[in-house]
Amino acid sequence: MISREELLRILSRYDERDIKIVTICSHSSLQIFHGARLEGFGTIGIALRGNRPYYESFPRASPEIMLEVENYKDVLRKEFQEKLISENALIIPHGSFVEYVGAENILERFRVPMFGNRLTLYWEGDRERQRKWIMEAGVRAPRRYSSPDEIDGPVIVKLHGAKGGRGYFRASSPSEFRRRLEELKLRGIIRGGEEYVIEEFIPGVRFYPHFFLSLLEAPNLPGLEHGRLELLGMDRRLEIIDEVYRGLPEIIEDYLDYTVAGNIPVIVREKFIVDLLEAAARISLAARRLFSPGLIGPFCLETIYHPRRGFTVFEISARIVAGTNLYPMGSPYSPYYYDEPMSMGRRIAREIKRAIELGRLSDLIY
Ligand code: AMP
Repeated sequence: MISREELLRILSRYDERDIKIVTICSHSSLQIFHGARLEGFGTIGIALRGNRPYYESFPRASPEIMLEVENYKDVLRKEFQEKLISENALIIPHGSFVEYVGAENILERFRVPMFGNRLTLYWEGDRERQRKWIMEAGVRAPRRYSSPDEIDGPVIVKLHGAKGGRGYFRASSPSEFRRRLEELKLRGIIRGGEEYVIEEFIPGVRFYPHFFLSLLEAPNLPGLEHGRLELLGMDRRLEIIDEVYRGLPEIIEDYLDYTVAGNIPVIVREKFIVDLLEAAARISLAARRLFSPGLIGPFCLETIYHPRRGFTVFEISARIVAGTNLYPMGSPYSPYYYDEPMSMGRRIAREIKRAIELGRLSDLIY
């Protein structure tokens, strides 16, 4: 794994008056570039040749410099990394960046300074480690089953490496589990032999709150002494299964699919904000204990609320999530922190700007 010292050495040669905010043109990049521009930063987009004109078609969100690649993994090439470093590039990792370049490649081979703590890639990317993190935080999590034979109620089966919920399925007994697995093989969705986890299926309403943890600002919540935690927005993913009612009175099999297709805005009953902030604070504290300095900047908790159980946290995304794209000019929560429109993309840029002013950029980079 590339050491933090090595990256900080590279960062120490940067011209801090000419930092450029860089990411792959996908996922939440328009919001990231838009926010960076509002904060006065130069921007670089890394785009596939065919995508370039589309990303250049947004006058207020297109990056000033475009670097074309044939394949996103080209960013790992030595010359490409050197080019980025010569531009004083700070990478903002988003979901597609991590997916296309590969968490392991980033940890082992990518020497360009990144906003945030790279160790989160290691802790978030593996379901077992992520589980350990959630357990360490002491928030409510779905029960895990170690074998299909233990299934004694509704479960959701998550195939290892399944992207965005595709190939997940539900079962309520060992025999139903086997039947569904067979069906997925027959339909060519899986090959067989994949690893999976079996998790308690949590009924309830899903909320995906977006947080930003600032290590530069004064603490604002009880028990959280190392930074200020902001709730900057909230969404819910729109998954194929969410429209299952459209096939009624029949349930059409193709609707039983958890693939994300988009995101919709949501707010939570106000008193529940307390529960969500408390859970987020616990997750941040656990991150600090497990992989110091822990979380830096944006993260999201995937939660399900039910009156009998309260909030269950079933996943952590330790970076900017695509649901923040709903709020390029701020969310129903951001005005309680900022007088100006504050998207997550802009918040990231604001933090970098502030760190430069304070001479503390190295605290936010790995
Ligand atoms: P994930 O890949 O963990 O983000 O899950 C994708 C989708 O599957 C989520 O957005 C939920 O709709 C659903 N899901 C995941 N885990 C659970 C669970 N334990 N109970 C109910 N639904 C879940």
